[in-house]
Amino acid sequence: MSHDLPIERIMQTGLLSCGPDTPLCEAAARMAARRCSSILVMQGERALGIWTEHDVFRVDFADPAAVRVPIGEVMSTPVASLHRTTPVAEAAARLHAEGRRHFLVVGDADEVLGIITQTDLALNQGIEPYLRLREVRCAMRARPLVLPAGLLLAEAARRMRRSGDEAAVVAGDDTGELGIVTERDLVRFIADHPGNTPIGALASRPLLTVGEQEMLIHARDRLIDNQMRHLAVLDEAGRVVGLVGFRDMLAGAENLYLEDLREALEQRDRALSQSRQHLQLAERVIEASLEGIIITDARSRIEFVNPAFTRLTGYSLEEVVGRTPALLSSGRHDADFYHAMWQELQAHGYWRGEIWNRRKSGQLFLEQLTITAITDDQGVTNHYAALFTDITQLRENEERVRRLAYYDALTGLPNRRLLEDRLELAIRHAHRQEQRLAVIFIDLDHFKQVNDTLGHAVGDELLVKVAERLAHRLREDDTLARLGGDEFIVMLPELDEPDEVTRVARRLVEGISEPFTLGGHEFRIGCSLGISLYPDDGDSPEPLVRNADAAMYRAKQEGRNTYRLYHAGMHVQHHQQLALETALRNTVESGEGLEVHYQPLVTHDAGGLHSAEALLRWTHPEFGVVTPGEFIPLAERSGLIVPLGEWVMARVCRQLAEWRRAGFSPAPVAINLAAQQFVQPDLVERVQAQLAAHDLPGHLLGFELTESTLVERPDQARETLQGLSDIPCHVAIDDFGTGYSSLSYLHELPVSILKIDRSFIQGLGATRHSGAIVAAVSGMARELGLSVVAEGVETEAQHRALGRYGVDLIQGYLIGRPVDADEFARQWLPAVATGPA
Ligand code: C2E
Ligand code: CA
Ligand code: CA
Repeated sequence: MSHDLPIERIMQTGLLSCGPDTPLCEAAARMAARRCSSILVMQGERALGIWTEHDVFRVDFADPAAVRVPIGEVMSTPVASLHRTTPVAEAAARLHAEGRRHFLVVGDADEVLGIITQTDLALNQGIEPYLRLREVRCAMRARPLVLPAGLLLAEAARRMRRSGDEAAVVAGDDTGELGIVTERDLVRFIADHPGNTPIGALASRPLLTVGEQEMLIHARDRLIDNQMRHLAVLDEAGRVVGLVGFRDMLAGAENLYLEDLREALEQRDRALSQSRQHLQLAERVIEASLEGIIITDARSRIEFVNPAFTRLTGYSLEEVVGRTPALLSSGRHDADFYHAMWQELQAHGYWRGEIWNRRKSGQLFLEQLTITAITDDQGVTNHYAALFTDITQLRENEERVRRLAYYDALTGLPNRRLLEDRLELAIRHAHRQEQRLAVIFIDLDHFKQVNDTLGHAVGDELLVKVAERLAHRLREDDTLARLGGDEFIVMLPELDEPDEVTRVARRLVEGISEPFTLGGHEFRIGCSLGISLYPDDGDSPEPLVRNADAAMYRAKQEGRNTYRLYHAGMHVQHHQQLALETALRNTVESGEGLEVHYQPLVTHDAGGLHSAEALLRWTHPEFGVVTPGEFIPLAERSGLIVPLGEWVMARVCRQLAEWRRAGFSPAPVAINLAAQQFVQPDLVERVQAQLAAHDLPGHLLGFELTESTLVERPDQARETLQGLSDIPCHVAIDDFGTGYSSLSYLHELPVSILKIDRSFIQGLGATRHSGAIVAAVSGMARELGLSVVAEGVETEAQHRALGRYGVDLIQGYLIGRPVDADEFARQWLPAVATGPA
């Protein structure tokens, strides 16, 4: 077999190369002209990087300038290479395992000699016998990506990247004729950019086809004759049922190689048992056989072994004659095993199985063993013939192939295929048990930025760490898979209640949002999750994954770093949730059981009252005290947060007016604003109306917003913030440090206060890390003219530590807990000298 050939024998020489300054479109034009799948970026004798067809997916076709960037900016680097003597089989395995399509072939001094691609291997791997024997449908990719003719080029490229398909069928145009778009076509579109036009007009037509029952060799010949790389596969009715390309043939042939080897063994076994009566003929076969053969007498004493036996075990004929095969025993099988073997042999004259034996060198090996009893004319056993092959390697290969086919090379997680298998099983199980199961689609937020700014190596490392963190937060029975890129899927089987999945989702979001340290950088990255449930959102893998994906998109649109259920109603289907939501709805209408508490913020230096934060409290006759941590998220999900927030604002304004009437000089009160409140177009007018209704000056009211509320719609945010600060109400950024934590954009917004999240304050003194963050944030905030609040100060030690960092304001239990309005006035509000009451 040509698997042992060194790759230098089949590599391509005469590489296409260019300098790093070459515009991408020019490089692509040269590739298209030469039908090369890659171009090497060289500086003098040195290969800086490579740009391959596969990289086309990184090009944004919606941007005409993207095709003119210098290739040096978009190439992949470094270039993976193999030494010229690497065997073809190993090269094939590594292409697979590493998901590459090319290796540079280098000499002893690392000088570039040529390149070897997947196609070269497919053509040279000696797979022809297989291609001749197998039908197209064995190797085709079923359910190919089909794109509507009206889809724009940029979107088409994006979908191909997402699905990992190197080619897509383009649905019929006016004439109904199918077309195809491949990576290679995309290279052409870089060379002469057609604009972001519908792919219907760009697809190659006609789409060459092959019948699913034709032999693969025909498909291959058609590909080579037409210099194409993909064919559409038609079933008997002429419908497109798949795509087949070189990559599929290569993958198919590897599996078939193993299968065929097994079949060949079986054939030989059959031949041997037929020749029981013709031992002499058999002996000739035996001499030449590649398999180890032992002939013993009726009492198992070895009479003869063939040369292959010696090669496989290390024992010569002289060493073993007269002894029994037990000298090969590995000790891995117990007496029962051998006993059963003998029984079967006596009963049927034949035994076959796998057995571990030991070579003369001591090394263990797995053999496929067949023992046949050889009888004389009277039917009395006079010899045994044992025939074996070493299948250790085969087993390892099988394992390797299995891993390649089912696991993601980077993270070692199950890939899409294995996930779908497992999902199918789990669905069947859930069906029988009448249980739910959940699919969570996870996509990292802004992963592309990490790749673009810190490089792909850091990107890869991040993916591995993300996988670790996710896995860490799951149960053993859950499946975590990587679909590719920055997309992961979690499957939770056997859900008892829908609530369980949202708990897990929250845990996963939290896990990812902790900072990562990679390549000397510390940074945060969020993730967006979408959830679908069986049987509610689909009863097979495909719709479940698709719907989870759709839900993930909603999570991205509605704020990122969060999760969404595909079927939004599911959130509240759980009884208690539903009851709680109903209760909250009633409460919002009546206002009963709601109360606002006030927590003081004091100046760090003098300790005088600066302002208060309004914090909502809810006591329900049945549920008792419900914490904001429980009901605020519920209110946000159900939309009740808007009327609830309205109630808080009205209540606070009334309170401020009451305090004034009662002769107190009230301090400004800050109200927490949820995202949905903030995006109300008439927010500023509503605030003005409330102030006017109670005849209050604007500076008595402030608002607290989290960064994520601001980030998603920056233009609207700017306008609304400007409106609020014109009133003039002060605006604070809440929980700083837990989200995007970008000071640079705050700079441009009219906010005046920054509240450092209490998690950092709590860590003060405990971890150096927290101190560093507080120091950095307060330093930069001061530069930007912002006041800095330390939230959640509980101890004197924390208070003292803050003295070092230039924090302006302090809030926390140490100073004062949130208390009701009367208590707050008593403790904190100075009476105006001559109050009316
Ligand atoms: P937040 O805006 O970060 O509010 C500060 C939270 O920290 C409050 O929790 C407060 O009681 C707590 N806290 C203050 N000092 C300390 C301390 O020293 N140690 C500790 N461990 N905690 C301290 P609370 O009242 O449970 O509110 C939780 C969250 O609920 C608030 O976080 C806010 O996001 C939300 N929330 C509360 N009231 C409202 C409201 O009227 N509208 C909206 N939209 N959200 C609200
Ligand atoms: Ca707050
Ligand atoms: Ca806060």
